[in-house]
Amino acid sequence: MSQIKFTLENWEKCKCVTCPVQAENQCFQEKNVKTLEIIPKIKKTNMVDSPELFPGMYCVNGKTTCRNLDIKQICQCHSCPLWVEYDLLHDKPMRYFCRDGAAK
Ligand code: SF4
Ligand code: SF4
Repeated sequence: MSQIKFTLENWEKCKCVTCPVQAENQCFQEKNVKTLEIIPKIKKTNMVDSPELFPGMYCVNGKTTCRNLDIKQICQCHSCPLWVEYDLLHDKPMRYFCRDGAAK
């Protein structure tokens, strides 16, 4: 089971927000705008009430609710510091957590 916690510090390491698999997806873009709006509040309180609303860290959050991901593009998890830190290469699913669910 992955031990990764959803924290703002980890969120800032996650590569999902710039990943081409979802970057052009309208559903993702709408969620990302909302995320950008609430991050200043989170920084003040250091509380993340609803991590599932964040359009990333799918290795923790599980599958995205957005449809029509561009799965032909390459998952960017391999370039994420958390991928190395938590040895996600040997977890399942391996990458594409937005499509296949959280790391176990
Ligand atoms: S899990 Fe991988 S494919 Fe999905 S958005 Fe994140 S980096 Fe991209
Ligand atoms: S391993 Fe992938 S899904 Fe998990 S935080 Fe990093 S980029 Fe995001």
